[in-house]
Amino acid sequence: MTESGPILTFRGVRGSMPVSGSNTNRHGGHTLCIEVTSADRSVVLIDGGTGITRLHRNGAPGGATEYHVFLTHYHWDHIQGLLFFRPLYDESNTFTFYGHQWDTMSSREAIEGALRPPWFPVSIQDTAAHKTYVTISSTILEVGDLKITAAPLHHPQGVTAYRIDGPKRSVVVATDCERGEQEADETLRLLATGADMLVHDAQYSPAEYEDHYVGWGHSTWAQAAQAAHDAGVKRLILVSHDPARTDDEIDALVQRARGDFANTSAAYEGMQLEL
Ligand SMILES: [Zn+2]
Ligand SMILES: [Zn+2]
Repeated sequence: MTESGPILTFRGVRGSMPVSGSNTNRHGGHTLCIEVTSADRSVVLIDGGTGITRLHRNGAPGGATEYHVFLTHYHWDHIQGLLFFRPLYDESNTFTFYGHQWDTMSSREAIEGALRPPWFPVSIQDTAAHKTYVTISSTILEVGDLKITAAPLHHPQGVTAYRIDGPKRSVVVATDCERGEQEADETLRLLATGADMLVHDAQYSPAEYEDHYVGWGHSTWAQAAQAAHDAGVKRLILVSHDPARTDDEIDALVQRARGDFANTSAAYEGMQLEL
């Protein structure tokens, strides 16, 4: 990639839990983390799954850095990499965590409640970086040359979808969402209308979904294709791959999805999109 727009990089694409093994290497076994580096050198992250451990292993590469961590929700697979993220232990870095309110719990309470002893030796409160917490619902924020819009979708304990508008292109990240709830489907349609790319949950095949997983909070490749059609996006990228799914099975699922929406691909670790 030679142009200089912000670059989105997938660091983890797996749903539910990390996996390893030679038959998952091409797409990768880390749980969800998406990185977007913006022109003002701030770093936007969507989720802190184990994929976050793939970046900045020796600390922030450019010195003091502003990290903006947009959490889709607080399930383990989306936060379990955070305390392994080296820049969190450097007092020159600043972190802003964004997440929705659950029940009476603020984003700060949800994050601090999970990331502390006895579940981990260190409490996130005791890490050296400067941290602030923002509780969001339907919000528009600007980070450098990125405009970020949040909207709630349908998932147990809630989930937030994010639209990122860069100088050239826009992407909507809708992981961990189950279609079929009319209000949420319409929310996603409005959020993604006019977007270039839609990154959508496709954990299940339609048969798996019907037989076992209605109400588990995830979608099928067919539902992802429907969401792409409804919003009129140009490109669909499937994410939240089932932990039991091999690389070859993901490829087969993409082929089937292309029957419904031609410009479909599957997210893999290291995949980049220019915004
Ligand atoms: Zn998940
Ligand atoms: Zn979840």
